[in-house]
Amino acid sequence: MTETGQYVDISIPLPLEGPFTYRVPEKLAPFVQTGRRVLVPFRNKIRAGFIVGNTNSIPPNQEIKDVIDIPDEAPYLSPKLWSFISWAADYYMLPAGQVLKTALPPGSDRKSRPWAIITLEGERSLPTAEKLKCPAKFLKVGVLLRSELESAIGGGQLEDAIQKGWIRIEERIARPRTSLRRKRLPELLYPAAHKSESNSPLPTLTGDQRTAVERIRGAVEQGGFHPFLLFGVTGSGKTEVYLRIIHEILSRGKRALVLVPEIALTPQLARRFLRRIGGGVGIFHSGLTPSQRLDEWRRVSAGKVNVVIAARSGVFLPMDDLGLIVVDEEHDPSYKQEDSCPYNARDMALARAKLEGACVILGSATPSFETFLNAERGKITRIDLPIRHHGGGLPEVQLVDLKETVPKKKAFLTETLLDAIQRTLAGKEQVVLFLNRRGFDTYAQCRSCGYVFKCPNCDISLTHHKRARDLRCHLCGLSRAAPPLCPQCSGDKLFFGGVGTQKVEEELRELFPEARIERLDRDSTRKRNELENILDRFRKKEIDILTGTQMIVKGHDFPGIALVGVLCGDLSLHFPDFRAAERTFQMLTQVAGRTGRESDSGRVILQTFDPDHDAIRFAASHDFTGFFEHDSEMRRELFYPPFGHLILIRVEGNSEKRVESRAIKIGRAARILKKGFGDISILGPAPSPRKKAVGRFRWQVLFKSPSRANVRGLVKSLKSDGHLKGQGLKVIIDVDPIDMM
Ligand code: ADP
Ligand code: ZN
Repeated sequence: MTETGQYVDISIPLPLEGPFTYRVPEKLAPFVQTGRRVLVPFRNKIRAGFIVGNTNSIPPNQEIKDVIDIPDEAPYLSPKLWSFISWAADYYMLPAGQVLKTALPPGSDRKSRPWAIITLEGERSLPTAEKLKCPAKFLKVGVLLRSELESAIGGGQLEDAIQKGWIRIEERIARPRTSLRRKRLPELLYPAAHKSESNSPLPTLTGDQRTAVERIRGAVEQGGFHPFLLFGVTGSGKTEVYLRIIHEILSRGKRALVLVPEIALTPQLARRFLRRIGGGVGIFHSGLTPSQRLDEWRRVSAGKVNVVIAARSGVFLPMDDLGLIVVDEEHDPSYKQEDSCPYNARDMALARAKLEGACVILGSATPSFETFLNAERGKITRIDLPIRHHGGGLPEVQLVDLKETVPKKKAFLTETLLDAIQRTLAGKEQVVLFLNRRGFDTYAQCRSCGYVFKCPNCDISLTHHKRARDLRCHLCGLSRAAPPLCPQCSGDKLFFGGVGTQKVEEELRELFPEARIERLDRDSTRKRNELENILDRFRKKEIDILTGTQMIVKGHDFPGIALVGVLCGDLSLHFPDFRAAERTFQMLTQVAGRTGRESDSGRVILQTFDPDHDAIRFAASHDFTGFFEHDSEMRRELFYPPFGHLILIRVEGNSEKRVESRAIKIGRAARILKKGFGDISILGPAPSPRKKAVGRFRWQVLFKSPSRANVRGLVKSLKSDGHLKGQGLKVIIDVDPIDMM
């Protein structure tokens, strides 16, 4: 056969580089279009792929296979989206197929089972229906599943019929099933969000809000890529600014994408957008079922949605005419995906907006150092909302030194705090208590021999959950009954130590029997709707004290909180991570910001063993800039981000020995290759701080350099020299890592 005809490049959603070249048979030629789904033979299998380009130059000496099918459906990817995906793959040094898989909705790579095509000849010659007790329609010219025909006429006869040419077997792509749901997803998830308050007048903007809106509107009018940092204290009305700009965008016939961290945890925020924007809003996050995600993705793709509220994966949505991307709480670590396709949606949002010529608003009261430095350097325009929308100040923070107080009860409930709770309750106001650790006791130990119960998969201590009477691993989810005896010495004196939110809740119930107390953490919200239920009741003031983990910190807007108590503010301070102080500062500032949102009557009690620590001091005075200046010093000297660039390589596997020796090999190769690049430090190889997780051993090597090009160059050469291939282990390249544990 001659090598004529059309050739296309196909990307396959598998962890493979690609794209791969295929020939298009004549009959399928009219369907060729970039972004379309195709069915191709690939490594002895039939797979779904996507057309990402046309090609005229076919690689020599290579067998080119034919595309099997191009179903008649809308393209999945626009050329722009594909170039964004390729760009992300290059930036994160991931196979393009892997990023494609992450970008596409679940089920888009599914193919159907083989089909039997009955030919005219087959229709005449196959045995009749009555004899074989199979539906007559089977034996007409047409298409049915091979398995159906096989069970009707038997495998032997089928083979025979195929041989004679009466039947052809073909692979086809699974056609998307159209949804039977009549209600749109947002209405289903947030019933009544559209109805209430849609007619109530918009709030009058404060002077600062107006200035912010004007400046961003100016950029929207001008068109093109404009990144903004909306640096507004908690309760300053950032969301109101987003909403005004979104309206502006919509009135210009463009679309807006709003990324929020963990949208499933902040139903109120989603409702607020739905209420204000009305129809044409989409919701997209990983808490949806796969079919809901696929449906929503299609709605976006078909242009039926003008605004999407999404979690990090939304950055890959197929939106045309994108005029604005909002990244709310841009500092939030949940924008970073940590699995085998690590990427940071905040950074990707900037890249995508650049590609689409759109505006970006990064909003936060506690910006990431990366964003703040970019603003200092003029790469991002910073707009400040320095006061709360009601004009009042930020709440006063009272520090309590845990070293110097004798807690009345075990669960960090000091005299000062109990006194404040008492008074708040007496004034019929609400209390929030924050502790960044769930469970009852955080470790279980034998008093006789000192044995500590640890997770066999992860090597961290197990947390005692009193109500379920079990010990759980908070990393891998393992749970086992709390044993009566020590497995090491058979002693019967087990000691449960440490404080988790469950213990706090129990103590509170004893101390304040009259108060209505609830807990908000991952354990108390396991059941569907439980999260919304608790938040609703809290809003309606049916709960007096709400205690919980960082779940209560996340962007909730409750007007009535008069007291916020941080039970122990330094739990996250001493992690072996250069961002530990930044994280602690962010968390404390955000939790403190939950009070005094409607008037300036709020009060915060911040308890800590380390009241002199900078993260604590600056958080207590709500001083982000001061904290940034201070914490920058060390980073600037050591070239940690944002003053330098990091790439982490992590090796994971079941055999400790193999993981170790592989990491050492990578380190050795890197030290040799390093000579070709200026100024790179190689930290490790060493076991990861979390040296075992979910049954796998982990080692890592960290590359650090003031020059992004250098550190990338080195890792790229490691990769191209084959040092980072899996070979039975998992080797993860994490560009701009966040989780270094
Ligand atoms: P942030 O996101 O900065 O923490 P929000 O946008 O959530 O703040 O605003 C906090 C509360 O203040 C919300 O209930 C919002 O409706 C209200 N709000 C915002 N701007 C104004 C304004 N200009 N006038 C009155 N209320 C406002
Ligand atoms: Zn575990």
